[in-house]
Amino acid sequence: EVTVLRLGHRPGRDERMTTHVGLTARALGADRVVMAGSARDRTDTIVDITERFGGPFEVEVTQEPKRLIRDFEGTIVHLTMYGEPVQDVEADVREAHAEGPLLLVVGAEKVPFEVYENADYNVGVTNQPHSEVASLAVFLDRLFEGRELEREWEDPDRVVVPMETGKRVVDPEDDDVDDV
Ligand code: SAM
Repeated sequence: EVTVLRLGHRPGRDERMTTHVGLTARALGADRVVMAGSARDRTDTIVDITERFGGPFEVEVTQEPKRLIRDFEGTIVHLTMYGEPVQDVEADVREAHAEGPLLLVVGAEKVPFEVYENADYNVGVTNQPHSEVASLAVFLDRLFEGRELEREWEDPDRVVVPMETGKRVVDPEDDDVDDV
């Protein structure tokens, strides 16, 4: 099981980024996103996408992200530009994931040092500054070695039919076709 914890959401400034952390976690194979307190409004979009495009995927809010980290029974990976290169630790993390749950922590603003200390792995996707969405996407793809791209979704109301040009979305229940 893979849980993504989104720390440090700043109301106003981080709205889209927080939503995108949740949507990226869902699309690329995580089971659950947990958002720190003030990100409550962001959960609606992710729940809505999961209802329309399928699951399972859970969205939760916590007022105590530090406690979640401290009490987590499993392996904690904190994504940070200061960490060890992903290509050096990915095999170890994959092994840990085969044995038990994984908590992937991403930040927004400066991440408290306690998080670095509590993480089993502090992992950099390059050691260049970029984004929580990008680092989460690359990390999940490395963790699952591309298998997340083949994932089947349960109970979708909408399924995109991939095509070379154009947009087609079908409702698998009644075979209705919408062009959007
Ligand atoms: N300056 C902040 C700090 O010192 O922690 C980081 C801000 S960055 C915009 C937001 C988040 O993106 C970070 O908390 C981290 O999770 C992620 N991030 C940015 N660059 C990264 C990298 N090269 N590797 C892994 N994660 C990265």
